[in-house]
Amino acid sequence: MAAGKSMHPREAAYRVLTLFGTRPEIIKLAPVIRALEARPDVFETLNVTSGQHANILAPFLGELSIRLDRDLGVGRPGQTPNEIAQRVLESFGPLVAEIGPDAILVQGDTTTAFAGALVGFHAGVPVGHVEAGLRSGNPESPFPEEMNRRLISRLTKFHFAATSQNREQLVAEGVDQESVVVTGNPVVDSVHWALADRARSPQVDDILSWLGDRKMLLLTTHRRESFGPVMESRMCALSEFAAEHDDVGLIFPVHPNPEVGERARRLLGSFENVRLVDPLPYVDFMQLLAGSWLIVSDSGGIQEEAPSLGKPLLLIRENTERPEAITSGVVRLVAGAGRELRDELELAYGGSDWIRGVAEIPNPFGEGDAGPRIAEALLRGLESSRKADSC
Ligand code: UDP
Repeated sequence: MAAGKSMHPREAAYRVLTLFGTRPEIIKLAPVIRALEARPDVFETLNVTSGQHANILAPFLGELSIRLDRDLGVGRPGQTPNEIAQRVLESFGPLVAEIGPDAILVQGDTTTAFAGALVGFHAGVPVGHVEAGLRSGNPESPFPEEMNRRLISRLTKFHFAATSQNREQLVAEGVDQESVVVTGNPVVDSVHWALADRARSPQVDDILSWLGDRKMLLLTTHRRESFGPVMESRMCALSEFAAEHDDVGLIFPVHPNPEVGERARRLLGSFENVRLVDPLPYVDFMQLLAGSWLIVSDSGGIQEEAPSLGKPLLLIRENTERPEAITSGVVRLVAGAGRELRDELELAYGGSDWIRGVAEIPNPFGEGDAGPRIAEALLRGLESSRKADSC
């Protein structure tokens, strides 16, 4: 816990413990935590990291100005989902008993979120799930995230759904419709926050001056299901595309996973119009995304950020749990390996209607006010539970 922050006596009506462990969780929870902290009359907040991806997460806490009260320190090199779950159960359980929260918040589909929700369930503490109701349709893909999110929905009391389709999905699974509130996705709040009147960092200046007047192609890939031959053939397709089009500049923030870095250096590292960089701070990354011509990615969150910025995205995955991104017309799914990606890149380069029309498409993931809406919905849920409990 942060020095000097005492949990007793209770300072507000509701003590909310928010648990996160990875970069996308904190990016999406930051607007919620800010909204809770803007209501000190009703909420007392405790922000806890599991430490699942400690090194990647740490700079984001500083950048997003999120106070950290506890670190469970569960992260280990080469950790398995079982090991993460086991360590979160062991360390978060006693913390919940010590703190006595009125609610626990988790986000998304990580093993941290699943284990945190299970701890809440065992402790009889209501759990709120931010970004509830996403489904890919295949319990094994993405692995283990799809199963995590399905299990979380069985354990949680408050479901904060980004879209009405997410809400319908939960209701179809038997979740009480009164417990599901459509709030938009707080990543949209984070995109707005990141782009609000901020100076460019020297690193962004440097990348943009390297880019010159080339079109910016922004690439991220690091998901487990992309590893191996699939990633190899996609990077080959990108290298061929870069070799053929010197008016395109490919920027690739390379994830620290060695599966990605070795391939990126070998297949893309020698091109004059390809720039490999370390993962970027959020504001820098959003500024580049906002200036991009085309995005290629297997990320979950970027499927929501691309429509928030009106930028076309080629999604290099087998499936998506965010079909709204596809049906809206912003994102095209490239489920195959290199050949399909190569074809799509050429189509985009040729100036397709898709590329031209994306900027006009309304964002299916909300208006950027999900943080306050989630805080309000949580407050109402807690108040009505308290009323129901009193005689
Ligand atoms: N991101 C970032 N810097 C980078 C690459 C990504 O800030 O160099 C952000 C990105 O904008 C998105 C999040 O990290 O919000 C995505 O994280 P990741 O791809 O690890 O997880 P996923 O979204 O697939 O769950």
